[in-house]
Amino acid sequence: MAWDFETDPDFALELEWIDQFVSEEVEPLDHVLGSPWDIHAPGFQTLVRPLQRIVKARGLWACHLGPELGGQGFGQVKLALMNEILGRSEFAPVVFGAQAPDSGNSEILAHYGTVEQKSRYLAPLLANDIVSCFAMTEPQGGADPKQFKTLAQRDGDQWVLTGEKWFASNARYADFYIVMAITDPDVTVYQGATMFIVPASTPGVRILRNVGCGDGEQTHAYVSFDKVRLDECNVLGGVGQAFAVAQVRLGGGRVHHAMRVIGQAGKALDALCERALSRTTQGSLLAEKQMIQERIADSWIELEQFRLLVMRTAWRIDKYQDYRKVRKDISAVKAAMPKVLHDIAARALHIHGSIGASNEMPFANLVNRAFQMGLADGPTEVHKVTVAKQVLRDYSPSTALFPAYHRPTAQAAAREKFKAQL
Ligand SMILES: Cc1cc2nc3c(=O)[nH]c(=O)nc-3n(C[C@H](O)[C@H](O)[C@H](O)COP(=O)(O)OP(=O)(O)OC[C@H]3O[C@@H](n4cnc5c(N)ncnc54)[C@H](O)[C@@H]3O)c2cc1C
Repeated sequence: MAWDFETDPDFALELEWIDQFVSEEVEPLDHVLGSPWDIHAPGFQTLVRPLQRIVKARGLWACHLGPELGGQGFGQVKLALMNEILGRSEFAPVVFGAQAPDSGNSEILAHYGTVEQKSRYLAPLLANDIVSCFAMTEPQGGADPKQFKTLAQRDGDQWVLTGEKWFASNARYADFYIVMAITDPDVTVYQGATMFIVPASTPGVRILRNVGCGDGEQTHAYVSFDKVRLDECNVLGGVGQAFAVAQVRLGGGRVHHAMRVIGQAGKALDALCERALSRTTQGSLLAEKQMIQERIADSWIELEQFRLLVMRTAWRIDKYQDYRKVRKDISAVKAAMPKVLHDIAARALHIHGSIGASNEMPFANLVNRAFQMGLADGPTEVHKVTVAKQVLRDYSPSTALFPAYHRPTAQAAAREKFKAQL
């Protein structure tokens, strides 16, 4: 019997420390600082750097990475327990050295980077001395890479990159971008695209505008690459290998988002319950009304179901150490995540009445974030298709006119089986 839902006692103590540290020291930063990626802002230096030193001294820095890269090699289950606490605060991931997209970008640099690329980009990225950006989506279409047009062509011993990228998160703060470009238009994009490391200061790189979601900072960039000249040493992971490279970051990244969403949805549920116990209308507490109780019950059940799915997926990643074997699980988590966050945040918003809908409460932003979660790293529809295809692999068609589970057919088979006894 190997089923076990316990956290080992030593790590449980560590989680208690993280919980207290995040709620007392980190969550308040969300109310006084701007973007967690604006690492050169004076407030970041004064308030975030000392907390990062405490986390490093405690041995909790960059826990998504193995020890060879300065992380703890915790594995995904422990990381899930940690990330659901970090998810409660905008600044917690950067305080713990595990913020997207740098976390995913560091994974691909570690996996595919050359020695030179690792020392130029990975080392400072892991130390949070610089931040990075991942630019794959294009303005004419993100969900379908076959629509991508950004082209990199060889010119002597250099590459010339031309095109536009859309919603490149944190490009405005990034020291370098990881950019997907077509290098062989004569084959499918899945075989003919290559990843390039593009330093933000390279001539020809220009942010056309920064786009915001909700009332947060405008951090998603519309970027133009106009005849940007790159050397062979800027190719990341080999020519034509862009999708293999992208998969390394997207697999882990999607699960890490889901872990943090548990924290965000949990925070909304906490607010919902506190309000239900605090507000009276028509002679009784909201908590005493059955329609409100249904919302509380649904929210709790949905969050627990989602958490179990995330934990099981984390456990399977640790077990197989191969993202291809957990594709169905990761896509299921990714597809479930926006709905859980949306439904719980929307209920929390509604139960708070007018103030819930206002910008004095976080719920409207959280509902908007649920939609973002349903698009970033691949839309929900695409992940549901993946789940369905993977599920269908375990089935085969019936050649009979009436299938075996058709009741008369099943009854006839049962009668035949037991004919001696009946
Ligand atoms: C907050 C946020 C951060 C992001 N950060 C980055 C980043 O750092 N780097 C980056 O490269 N990109 C980033 N993206 C872009 C993201 O990857 C794209 O939004 C996503 O791939 C969808 O592309 P699109 O926005 O062009 O939508 P479209 O491709 O135009 O999709 C339009 C609609 O079609 C739906 N759809 C798509 N496929 C199917 C299908 N097969 N069946 C039915 N419906 C379908 C979509 O869900 C959507 O509703 C980010 C997005 C968000 C919201």
